[in-house]
Amino acid sequence: MSKKVPLYIDGEFVQSQSSQWIDVTNPATQEVIAQVPCATQTEMAQAVASAQQAFLTWKEVAVSERARVMMRYQALLKEHHDEIAEILASETGKTFEDAKGDVWRGIEVVEHAANIPSLLMGETVENVARGIDTYSFTQPLGVCAGITPFNFPAMIPLWMFPLAIACGNTFILKPSEQDPLTPTRLVELFEQAGAPKGVLQVIHGGKEQVDFLLDEPAVKAISFVGSVAVGQYIYRRGTENMKRVQAFAGAKNHCVIMPDANKSQVISNLVGASVGAAGQRCMAISVAVFVGSAREWIPEIAAELAKVKPGGWDDPDAAYGPLISPQAKQRVENFITQGVNEGAELLVDGRNCDVAGYPHGNWVGPTMFGKVTTDMEIYKNEIFGPVLCATEVDSLDEALAMVNANPYGNGTSIFTASGAAARKYQHNVEVGQVGINIPIPVPLPFFSFTGWKGSFFGDLHAYGKQGVRFYSETKTITARWFESDIADVSGPNMT
Ligand code: NAD
Repeated sequence: MSKKVPLYIDGEFVQSQSSQWIDVTNPATQEVIAQVPCATQTEMAQAVASAQQAFLTWKEVAVSERARVMMRYQALLKEHHDEIAEILASETGKTFEDAKGDVWRGIEVVEHAANIPSLLMGETVENVARGIDTYSFTQPLGVCAGITPFNFPAMIPLWMFPLAIACGNTFILKPSEQDPLTPTRLVELFEQAGAPKGVLQVIHGGKEQVDFLLDEPAVKAISFVGSVAVGQYIYRRGTENMKRVQAFAGAKNHCVIMPDANKSQVISNLVGASVGAAGQRCMAISVAVFVGSAREWIPEIAAELAKVKPGGWDDPDAAYGPLISPQAKQRVENFITQGVNEGAELLVDGRNCDVAGYPHGNWVGPTMFGKVTTDMEIYKNEIFGPVLCATEVDSLDEALAMVNANPYGNGTSIFTASGAAARKYQHNVEVGQVGINIPIPVPLPFFSFTGWKGSFFGDLHAYGKQGVRFYSETKTITARWFESDIADVSGPNMT
């Protein structure tokens, strides 16, 4: 019997009464390791009612006490770091090192949330008119909700609920149905950290459960991370229902390689950034843009990529794990076939990849295409697999034009020894996160995660100061006190 994943409603882990359950599988073996329910309408209504009730008391809890919950939570997550990473590896197939990174990046957001008192500080101006002062407070919204993808089952839930809750909100999480065991463990530890009953709820399921959150009037704000089509849908439906929505979506991230770049750095960084985590990262480098004579390095990069091997989560020599599902593997292999058919040069072919001991894993080997052009489907689509597309241009201006014409704008990087080239790229590129000699420029949580264009729908991004603003309202007070109202306290008792 596989484990049944509970819901978390009103401070209790409860078994769903649903008749619809989805299998959670180990992607390296296809073994069913758990079943996750599609929460019923009644269960979801209970979660909302409990979150509304909890908000009434949680918003009154002193901000320093809210911060202390986050401090205790951070300590517990650190203590259980490796254990969470093992759970994560079992349901995603990530290598242990990669799984630990997923947990660690989430812990960093909890650390940020523990700074909530100073993050909530408002503005003040004395004497906006004679004797009148104006000052602002940051107040919570109420019930917020988060819908998360499969590819970072620790980090992305932790992008959301700690900060929302530290701001004084209550939160309903709908994790990916493909890897719900990691978020369940995160929630157990949150309870252990002393989070009061009802402050966090977890419902499971798919579209029907997401639609419930999008339509429920009590939910004031929606955070989403996932694919482009679903992100657009969630942004449209959520805002149609007059909610605040931040939707982080897919990407096609370019790395521009100038001929003066440090070649050995380029090669090692490109290999890790393109096929690491089997390319299942929204910040993975999927297009390498070789400028001028840098194109001569393509064969060497292909040779290095070909050496990389996927494998089991506990194999120290494995560079990455399997794709999340047989469907995801099929989709990536279809793109590889399509790339060949549309005339790209297949330099490294990752199809028909076998890993000893795992005959049923969703393996795709490292793959690299040369001579890719911007009209090809393998260029236009997010493949979300270990596939690197190499393109060639003659100048930095041409590289910039290519990147800026791409509809996505999550991340990009440039490798160069020229400060002037880096400055020009950083200033002109229409992408929200830029690395200079850094392949995957994910900002630490005291900044914000700032994807642009088709990679993000909304106004305020995740974590940093923007995350606090997303999960709060500003109240601005203008006050006048009349000196003539000051009581005369100079009577006989005072002398
Ligand atoms: P997905 O869009 O399939 O699923 C994300 C969430 O949406 C899940 O919780 C899922 O249950 C729900 N969902 C799925 N279909 C739905 C529908 N039709 N209606 C409503 N809800 C639905 O994404 P995924 O495959 O889990 O994650 C991979 C994608 O996430 C990639 O495109 C990747 O680039 C993107 N991603 C983006 C970022 C970012 O910060 N921009 C970060 C991580 C992942």
